[in-house]
Amino acid sequence: MHRIGIGSDIHRLVEGRRLVLGGVEISHERGLLGHSDGDSLTHALCDALLGAAGLGDIGSHFSDRDPEYAGVDSMALLGRVMEMLAERGYRVENADATIHAERPRMKPYIPAMRARLAEALGIEPERVNLKAKTAEGLGAVGRGEAIAADAVVLIAASTAE
Ligand code: MG
Repeated sequence: MHRIGIGSDIHRLVEGRRLVLGGVEISHERGLLGHSDGDSLTHALCDALLGAAGLGDIGSHFSDRDPEYAGVDSMALLGRVMEMLAERGYRVENADATIHAERPRMKPYIPAMRARLAEALGIEPERVNLKAKTAEGLGAVGRGEAIAADAVVLIAASTAE
């Protein structure tokens, strides 16, 4: 049996923060604000996985009011999400995601993000597709105030059905 999930996230770009997307640190003068490291790509992926498994969303499992998750590496949250799926007998078939960012250019970082996320998902990098788009100057993303991400995943029960 296969199940599909969708996830979406956005974080504000502010001074004095590291920019981390897909678990990869990106050289930029601003970073994403959040209770965690603000990795909107990884958060979108977590939501897609939880959605596919019928397990709600990232906020219902990792509260942004819980001090345990203050400044947490979002890849650790993704690891926890993968444990939840594994406990229920699910594995990931593939993931596809789009980063929405006006700046900086994401292309040089995409291979490292694919590798990092694929490892976390327990699949080969070619099963993780990442795309990056600008917003053509429109809206909060276009003004460089935020970086957003959308993700879709397909999961399957580990035993063939
Ligand atoms: Mg988030």
